[in-house]
Amino acid sequence: MNSTVWDVDVLVAGGGPAGLVAAAAFGHRGFRSLVVDPRPAVTDADDPDADLRTTALLQPSRRFLDEIGLWERLAQHATPLATMRIVDAGGAHPAPRVSRDFEADDIGPLPFGWNLPNWLLRREFVAALAGNDAVAYRPGTGVAGVLTRSGAALVTLDDGSTLRARLVVAADGRHSPLRQAAGIGVRTLRYGQKALAFAVTHDAPHDNISTEIHRSGGPFTLVPLPDRDGRPCSAVVWMERGPEAQRLMALDPAAFSAAATARSGAIYGPLTLTGRRSIWPIISQIADRFHAERTALVAEAAHVVPPIGAQGMNMSLADIRCLVDLAVKADDPGAPEVLTAYGRARRPDVALRVTGIDMLNRTSMAALRPIRDLRGAGIAALHEIAPLRRTLMQLGLGARS
Ligand SMILES: Cc1cc2nc3c(=O)[nH]c(=O)nc-3n(C[C@H](O)[C@H](O)[C@H](O)COP(=O)(O)OP(=O)(O)OC[C@H]3O[C@@H](n4cnc5c(N)ncnc54)[C@H](O)[C@@H]3O)c2cc1C
Repeated sequence: MNSTVWDVDVLVAGGGPAGLVAAAAFGHRGFRSLVVDPRPAVTDADDPDADLRTTALLQPSRRFLDEIGLWERLAQHATPLATMRIVDAGGAHPAPRVSRDFEADDIGPLPFGWNLPNWLLRREFVAALAGNDAVAYRPGTGVAGVLTRSGAALVTLDDGSTLRARLVVAADGRHSPLRQAAGIGVRTLRYGQKALAFAVTHDAPHDNISTEIHRSGGPFTLVPLPDRDGRPCSAVVWMERGPEAQRLMALDPAAFSAAATARSGAIYGPLTLTGRRSIWPIISQIADRFHAERTALVAEAAHVVPPIGAQGMNMSLADIRCLVDLAVKADDPGAPEVLTAYGRARRPDVALRVTGIDMLNRTSMAALRPIRDLRGAGIAALHEIAPLRRTLMQLGLGARS
């Protein structure tokens, strides 16, 4: 790998969860692939740089990961999500006033999804790449420049080496240097909002129910995890306006646990913070195009959504599946017809989801009582109409578009 110019079928820029899956998927289909990332892979929960978020992988994502041989590594660590509970707590006090359960068995035999910590996803994906001869993974090396021609892309890495790739997959995150280099613009919506991600233990069992509680500032979402220290445990994403999120972040653990308990409406009794908190800026963003010459944008390089309804990574896996399927059917994975078909297949679905989640987020942020009252009534009404309820659940899963 240290000759002046060497060839790969697919160069993946970005070793986040999406980039690692992209490399594994292309490798699984026999494409020689290289994935690079300037950052080292953090695969240990106790590492101060570990990604503490969790990802709820929905049914289509599990099917895809199964097809490419990754699910078998994850299954034993995954917590099934059987019920999605939507709660409105927008009254005068932060107590639940409307609560509706959306049951997975209303639309089929499987759970909605399976929850896994991000650091563990990374650990298992990296381990899977090590066992695949078609794939090389180089953490600590980034893409420094890309020069595309109609037949291939010439990629310079920041260690000075050069390679030729038939397809460059930009999985290099929301600020995607590759997207910028390709001259592709983005539409960005800002909310002045941040998400706190952390884990809590509690007295009451979660019963594999994922619960989204709406009051103001954004949703407070509890997603089931395996028991910790013999106590029920959940991952939490708590969205608030920026200054309030910063204030909460600065509280000592006991005061923070008390604030989280109050915001949860005490549905599981007192919540106890376990470990660190992390804070994430919230935006919606979509790239104007999902492809350029010899280049495909996937995951956050193409789209970013607020963490509502577990859509972000699941849309990313749908991007990768679509791109790989199209590449398999063609001789050349970066041929113009592959990339055009990819953009045509993915961008409209993603645009619809970005718009839908933007609306849900704005409704959840609402501070005015009349809007909060309408939201509570809306949750109940959506749930009561069975065909609409089932259609919404299938749309949320990505089983329909
Ligand atoms: C609080 C929160 C909770 C979430 N929960 C869920 C959920 O439950 N379900 C869900 O589906 N989604 C969820 N998401 C979204 C999900 O976490 C993201 O979609 C996913 O982590 C992003 O992955 P990515 O690989 O696209 O980007 P990133 O993880 O940002 O990876 C991009 C990588 O590219 C690398 N890079 C940058 N420049 C270069 C370069 N020049 N060359 C090579 N590499 C480069 C970076 O170092 C980085 O490692 C959540 C998001 C947030 C904020």
